[in-house]
Amino acid sequence: MFGKKPLQQLIEELRNDKHITFWHEIEEQEASIVPFPNLMDDRIKQALHKRGIEGIYTHQASSFDAVLKGENIVAVTPTASGKTFCYNLPVIQRHLNRSNSRALYIFPTKALAQDQKSEINEFIDDMEVNINSYTYDGDTPANIRQVVRKAGHIVITNPDMLHSAILPHHTKWISLFENLETIVIDELHTYRGVFGSHVANVIRRLKRICRYYGSNPTFICTSATIANPKELCSELTGERYIKLIDNNGAPKGKKHFVLYNPPIVNKQLNIRKPSTKVVNEIAARFLKEKIQTIVFSRSRVSVEIILSHLQELVKGELNKKSIRGYRGGYLPNQRREIERNLRNGETVGVVSTNALELGVDIGQLQVCVMNGYPGSIASSWQQAGRAGRRKDESIVIMVANSNPLDQYLFQHPEFFFEGSPETARINKDNLIILVDHLKCAAYELPFERGETFDGTEIEEILEYLTEERVLHEQRNKWYWMNDAFPAHNISLRSAAQENVIIIDQSQVEKHRVIGEMDTFSALTLLHDEAIYLHEGTQFQVEYLDWDEKKAYVREVDVEYFTDANLAVQLKVLEIDKEQTYRECVLQYGDMMVTAMATIFKKIKLETFENIGSGQIHLPEQELHTNGIALTFTSEMFLKMEEKTLEQMLMGLSHVLQHVACVRVMCDKNDLHAVPEVKAIHSEKPTVFLYDRYPGGIGLSDSVFKQFNDILNDSEDFIRRCPCEDGCPSCIGIAGVTSPINEKESMKKIVLNAITSVLS
Ligand SMILES: [Zn+2]
Repeated sequence: MFGKKPLQQLIEELRNDKHITFWHEIEEQEASIVPFPNLMDDRIKQALHKRGIEGIYTHQASSFDAVLKGENIVAVTPTASGKTFCYNLPVIQRHLNRSNSRALYIFPTKALAQDQKSEINEFIDDMEVNINSYTYDGDTPANIRQVVRKAGHIVITNPDMLHSAILPHHTKWISLFENLETIVIDELHTYRGVFGSHVANVIRRLKRICRYYGSNPTFICTSATIANPKELCSELTGERYIKLIDNNGAPKGKKHFVLYNPPIVNKQLNIRKPSTKVVNEIAARFLKEKIQTIVFSRSRVSVEIILSHLQELVKGELNKKSIRGYRGGYLPNQRREIERNLRNGETVGVVSTNALELGVDIGQLQVCVMNGYPGSIASSWQQAGRAGRRKDESIVIMVANSNPLDQYLFQHPEFFFEGSPETARINKDNLIILVDHLKCAAYELPFERGETFDGTEIEEILEYLTEERVLHEQRNKWYWMNDAFPAHNISLRSAAQENVIIIDQSQVEKHRVIGEMDTFSALTLLHDEAIYLHEGTQFQVEYLDWDEKKAYVREVDVEYFTDANLAVQLKVLEIDKEQTYRECVLQYGDMMVTAMATIFKKIKLETFENIGSGQIHLPEQELHTNGIALTFTSEMFLKMEEKTLEQMLMGLSHVLQHVACVRVMCDKNDLHAVPEVKAIHSEKPTVFLYDRYPGGIGLSDSVFKQFNDILNDSEDFIRRCPCEDGCPSCIGIAGVTSPINEKESMKKIVLNAITSVLS
């Protein structure tokens, strides 16, 4: 497999590269193996023997023992540590103990479910026992469905299918629900935000149906490393007692984890060489030597761009087919082919979106290159886990973008290596989400007076739904009274708010959807005449059809960008929590956000000159959500000249937003920041951070709880930024100084503001 230059030599060459800002080595780890548990059936032991396994890893043994005792567990294990045994072994054992025992496996995607089915079926075949395991998803043929319902001992599905096909038809699944002993939830960390809040309610419905049929299943969850796996597991399953299993006993080869910050090309603005270029150069070095390499990039389009450049760069050494792309949108058999060729080594390089981050089996590669920070530390480790075989050395290279999030994390490599600060949050009592699932639950089984929804009081909502003529009350029971089937109209993967679809009509014969955007962002980014940047390509919005929520765009090549003014106003409706600092007050509660786009400017790319403007005619938007308000009470700020104060608050909110997003594990579109020189509720300078979903999904609550850390990190981040007086990577603006004292930069003023809160 190895070409003329071994991997070690290329790694050594990289050591001299001055753009590498951090080099971390993870030492090789011997396997920690224990004898088979006493309670394990001989048939399982034999099947393991057949595979040359004479003992199991410590974390697998702990899981086995705990589950057989009836404990709910969350196993936190890295990629390729044999986590599937954490659930497959106890589930099979339970079946051998009681042949009617059933298990339900929930995977976040269909592809993962398919993968798991093959794995468990191979194991069952080796045991020569009669355990039926099936996947149940949109692709399952109608004639097989009935077999799965009646005879499936292990049913493998995804949350969407559980929500829309299994639970509403529970009467067809009586043998499953009567005998359900174990529920497996894989990739727990993916259930956060809106999606997680929905799935937690699906689990509430599932448990309700289990109770009805008299079963009380145990939960086995697995997760990547996050700060709060036990808490998330408890929130999602509604179970109070969860055992954490993190004694990973799998062996590891030596691994290098390297952070690469591209050189600065524009000193004044602190802008760096594009990460895609650097990624291509680095990946090509390994690929030229035929060393198996995976490149991760965030968007589908960037995957395609990197792929074509890489193929070009190594065309002398490798044919085109040796490097493949992998992303959502490829057909399943095409994906299977790529996975197979990666496993057998025929494919040397693959460029992928996070589609390959989850457990799909592609074997272990030697090199992983990431184009930018993937959005969470948990994801970074999942991606990094793709490189590294049991005995061989491997290397992971993360290349930063110029954006504040990447730059912030590159200043804090300890986040990657000393335990993740990311906390995954859900808010299962978000009113909109809760009401949706109460409808589904009422369809499934009538609610009785006094019944709670896994602990949450719901009578008021049921009364409301009765008034709305959705439910009908009779002899202390609420029944579903509509003909329509509620789960059909409820998607687990989006919030209630609508998105605007972006349609490219550059090619007359073929209009294509290139993306979508929430209505709030669309106000400023997709108005008529806006220049919309999509993966580096400029498009002009020709027509925004607000009623139909469609934006028609066309590819252009212009020398300006557009910048729209959004008048956002926050009203604090109710304060739930408050904390006082020396020079400010922090409050958390209900807020109403109103936003209206007013005008836009055309700004020349090179010089930032204003070369034109226009009016925007779009309706005002309202959002009722949760947020925090940081209100300054200090004399220093109250006396500050208005323009300076405004810029200071803008700079501060820019930093706070980015740092907060890392802490609460969300995208920066999920948590917005708005500065106000004179907020309505206090008439004082205030920075707001709010959840960008109706009803909130727990992000700003988490920000409230971690606010001290967020402030400390923000201060540290600005101090360490290499710019002199502010730049787009830190406070968002460059070269602005105080009108009173030219020597006092905005960077310094923002720092002072943070210090005044902290001290
Ligand atoms: Zn800076």
